[in-house]
Amino acid sequence: MATMASKRDYYEVLGVKRDASDKEIASAYRKLAVKYHPDANPGDAEAVLKFKEAAEAYEVLSDGDKRARYDRFGHAASEQFGQQFHDVNDIFEAFGDIFSEMFGGQRRGGGRRVRRGANLRCDVRIELEEAARGVTKTVEFARSTPCATCKGSGSRPGSTKAQCRRCGGHGQIVQSAGILRVQTTCPTCQGAGSVITDPCDGCRGRGYVQERTKLDVQIPAGIDDGMQIRLAGYGEPSPDGGPPGDAFCFVAVKKHKLFQRDGTHLILQMPITYSQAALGATIEVPTLAGPHSLVIPPGSASGEVFRVRGRGVPDVRGGPPGDLHVQTFIEVPKRLTPEQERLLRELAVMEQTEVSPHRKSFLERIRDYFAPSEAAIAPANEPTEKPAEKENVHDRPAKQRDRGGKRSG
Ligand SMILES: [Zn+2]
Ligand SMILES: [Zn+2]
Repeated sequence: MATMASKRDYYEVLGVKRDASDKEIASAYRKLAVKYHPDANPGDAEAVLKFKEAAEAYEVLSDGDKRARYDRFGHAASEQFGQQFHDVNDIFEAFGDIFSEMFGGQRRGGGRRVRRGANLRCDVRIELEEAARGVTKTVEFARSTPCATCKGSGSRPGSTKAQCRRCGGHGQIVQSAGILRVQTTCPTCQGAGSVITDPCDGCRGRGYVQERTKLDVQIPAGIDDGMQIRLAGYGEPSPDGGPPGDAFCFVAVKKHKLFQRDGTHLILQMPITYSQAALGATIEVPTLAGPHSLVIPPGSASGEVFRVRGRGVPDVRGGPPGDLHVQTFIEVPKRLTPEQERLLRELAVMEQTEVSPHRKSFLERIRDYFAPSEAAIAPANEPTEKPAEKENVHDRPAKQRDRGGKRSG
């Protein structure tokens, strides 16, 4: 009860004035119940706390007697009410599941309501290859199973249960919750009508114990990281004879050292050499189904992506499989043999004089880019960039003429 000191004022929790009408209180609670409903906030512990807090405030403020006592004594009074919501299901029991009523969820039939058991989580980590092919994995998780000592009754063998005093053995109580009068399951005996007086040692009266459950889980081909597989009925048992909850197996797919995944597509970073990019080549690329020959056409740019159809990952929902995207990049060698260096230096010399068509068009594009501003500055008749090329063209004949001149002179 260390939390008592920090307990928020019930009016503050619901965000209503101290003189709020029953209608205002009910409306404020409905809004909070929808906002913090567990179905709308899966896995959010904070939302569960807010949901419980709102329900507790509503439970007190919607009841005339309790509200009057709360107004006089504050939280010290609420302690005597005995209605503590340990579980969100208790809240559904007390006030109905507003959320599912509003959004067309499953309505439980009249009469005694039964609760589903809680859902459980288990985890499995698989390789990308396993995710692509599909695989069966054994998972292990803790789950409640009926106690062998008391056969699930919770009472020490030989002892008997006593009639519940709160509901007189009916299992149901009538609560007037402000504008509503609802018959609900007795929170003391959970509807059983009887309470355990001498709890079983094996399970401390709970009737069940935690046991490791081993299960083979079939993981379908194409499953992606973060997806869940529902293991229907493998959750916790219902506390009152209803259906059990489900177990959800969370799948984590390990990072692959070659392939990155994007939905059903795979991405592969593939190094090629400068000469392969320039001259074209047939290279062998890895795929999940083994090596594949990929044609790199001559004149490929660094970073160009080639698609290998159908060599991605199957679609887990049955759609067409994805593709493998091979993204090439030109790898510059860190060390060169003397022969390689000599050839590259020759190439460098050539590149200064010779301009390939592809390169020329690129240079022309640069010229076009700068042309307007240059035209504005340069005098109209003066030639600008042409002489450089002309000098190259006339370079050799000019020298020959010089030599010829010397010979003749
Ligand atoms: Zn037991
Ligand atoms: Zn009872």
